[in-house]
Amino acid sequence: MKIRPNTAIGTALEIKDLIRDGYQSIFIGTGVWRPKTLGVKGESLGNVHYAIDYLANPDAYNLGDTVAIIGMGNSAMDVARTAIRHGARKVTLYARGTVSNASEHETAYAKLDGADFQFGKQIVEITDDGPVFVSVIHDETGKAIGQGEEREQFFADSTIISVSQGPKSKLVNTTEGLKASQNGLLMTDDNGQTTIPGIFASGDVVLGARTVVEAVAYSKTVAEAMDEYMKSKEE
Ligand SMILES: Cc1cc2nc3c(=O)[nH]c(=O)nc-3n(C[C@H](O)[C@H](O)[C@H](O)COP(=O)(O)OP(=O)(O)OC[C@H]3O[C@@H](n4cnc5c(N)ncnc54)[C@H](O)[C@@H]3O)c2cc1C
Repeated sequence: MKIRPNTAIGTALEIKDLIRDGYQSIFIGTGVWRPKTLGVKGESLGNVHYAIDYLANPDAYNLGDTVAIIGMGNSAMDVARTAIRHGARKVTLYARGTVSNASEHETAYAKLDGADFQFGKQIVEITDDGPVFVSVIHDETGKAIGQGEEREQFFADSTIISVSQGPKSKLVNTTEGLKASQNGLLMTDDNGQTTIPGIFASGDVVLGARTVVEAVAYSKTVAEAMDEYMKSKEE
């Protein structure tokens, strides 16, 4: 097996180049590396960042003392703990709901490291001073049933948005016939074959943001299907 690093397919090289160069079958496992956006005013300001960009190289960021994190999933916990280790003094995670969406142990570790949690906050804007929220009203089961009108400015030197990721569109945009569903995930059959015969896909780019175990488990089935496909070409 040869590994060619630093080569994004869908830029200088496209899938059609791989086919030209003799690859009989292609596996796409490109994951989900496009941060989901909030679509609120202020999201493009210099004090606002996305979780996966920050986590890729935390040393490149100067977040300041006070950090607000929008979202409460596992990635948000990683951001909180990383920011604290990089010197942030006050780190607060904000969620619309009433509970953390992260696993119990990730949440517990973030709390142990000193992160604060604020529930029932719907972000409406981000300013140079930090995020602005309105309160979410929940019933006794935790279901959101409305929101308040009063805007509340929370002060933060930096705001990090951590509300999941979707796939980048490079491959679909540059590969004729490769189809994705509305949310950008590649469409495949049960064996992982995409809408182009011989091109297979697995992992987060098909399943959405999941776990390593799920990506590996599904990819084993897909690898067998690729083997079958290539054998059928030899006959
Ligand atoms: C912050 C964070 C923390 C996580 N923590 C956990 C955890 O603790 N446990 C767990 O099980 N899961 C965790 N996950 C989820 C886990 O990382 C994914 O589910 C898993 O890695 C998916 O595997 P994959 O092979 O589909 O994609 P990935 O592991 O994302 O690999 C995709 C690869 O394709 C490359 N790529 C993308 N586009 C192109 C292109 N056009 N051309 C060439 N290469 C490309 C990417 O650079 C990357 O190397 C976490 C995710 C995040 C974001």
